[in-house]
Order: sequence, then C-alpha cells, then structure tokens
Amino acid sequence: MSDPVIDILMYHSISDGGGATSIAPSVFADQMQAIADAAVPVITLDDLLAAHAGTKELPPQSVVLTFDDALQDFADTAFPVLEGHGFPALVYVPTDHVGETENWDRSGGRKRPIMTWDTMRDLAGQGVGFGSHSVTHSDLTMLSAETLDVELSVSKAEIEDRLGQKVLHFAPPYGFSNAQVAAHAGRFYKTAAGTRLDRATLSNDLMDLPRIEMFYFIAPDRWRAHLDGSGASYLAQRRFLRGVKQMLPGL
Ligand SMILES: [Zn+2]
Repeated sequence: MSDPVIDILMYHSISDGGGATSIAPSVFADQMQAIADAAVPVITLDDLLAAHAGTKELPPQSVVLTFDDALQDFADTAFPVLEGHGFPALVYVPTDHVGETENWDRSGGRKRPIMTWDTMRDLAGQGVGFGSHSVTHSDLTMLSAETLDVELSVSKAEIEDRLGQKVLHFAPPYGFSNAQVAAHAGRFYKTAAGTRLDRATLSNDLMDLPRIEMFYFIAPDRWRAHLDGSGASYLAQRRFLRGVKQMLPGL
C-alpha cells in the first residue's frame, strides 16, 4: 500500500483584504465545497500523530486545515463554513497579540484584528483546535536559545491555561526555522508546520511538516484538479518558481 498523502492547508485571513495572505470568503467557501465534493476526509494533526504512533490508519488521501495568526475573520467568516461541512481546524495563536491587531504584515494592507481569548474559548468549546504561533510573532531564528524557549513555552502555557486544551502543535512565524528552532520546539510540541510547499506523508519529520499555501489555489479548477490527483505538475511548478525567487532576492 502506498504511503498516505496529507495536504496540510495553510490559511491566514479569509477576507477581501487583498494581498497574498487574504483569501476572499467566496473563494474559501468554494475550496471547502471542493473538498466535500471530492469526498477527501478532513483530519487533524492529532490524527497524523496517531498514525505516526501506529494507533490509527489514515485514508490514502486527506486534508488538514490550519489558520495562522488567529485573525478575527476566522471566527466571523471561516468557522461558519467549516461548521457547515463539519470540518475540524487548527488555529495558530501569537499569544501576545490576542485581542489586538497584527503589527507584522508588511503588505501595506489594513491591520487585521486578532481574536480575543473569549472568542477562542467559545470556538474551542465547538471543537476548534489551537496551536502556538509564538508569543510575539518574531523571527525565531534571530533569537538566543533562552529567548527562544520563552517564545515556545510561554505561548504554550498561556493557550493551555486560557482555553483548557493541550497544545501539541506549533507553527513558527513566517515559516522561519532552523536546526535550533526545530530542536527547541521539539521539547514543547509534537509537530511544527512551516511554509515549505509540499504534500505531507508519514515519512515527514513531524517538526518540519510541509504545507500547501492556498493562495496558489484560488482558481477553482486548479484546486479541484489537485484534489482529484491531476494537479501534481502545477505544485511542482510552483515549488520550482519559489526556489528561483529564493535564489534571486529582490524578485
Ligand atoms: Zn503568522
């Protein structure tokens, strides 16, 4: 039997805010409908952990839904759609910014509000999972080991304390990680998901899970093609273009 494929989808804002980190509500609704139509099961990172531990079997293809930054539009716009389909989701929270607005988006757009603890507690009660996205949303690769541990441990403890949920999952801000960040994150979390563009399999290092940036799939046909297995060359092409951009700074 071939190794199960897990698409860990990465979202930020579900809004008409524009920019690469916003996906229009109608596009998001269509992407979720496509998953339902394709009958691809939506699982959680806890299911992935169980599969790694050998206590659960995964279907040949599945999807995990993740949302970075805990923006208010998750509660207002994304969650009702997810609830309609019965899809589970995981939200990565930068704990120092809860109830405030983001201050790290450099695209020049509107500064988007972040959910309050009350809102997140309500969502946790309805089955939404929460992970850590550090305390301050800093580039963790620039920090001393000691400060890094504060970012990792304080965010975990605060989410657990406020939401009454065990926090096992982490996403480094901007996807920036290195050997030190991965090693330290492994002391506090069971998984870390970055921005490396790929489909996940059970052979992945759990502290370096790839994700699918959904901005690449705002064209409905392309997303449906990916789900039915005919979109592999598009993903490879996006990955190649990303590599080229990284080699040619300034593009
Ligand atoms: Zn972020």
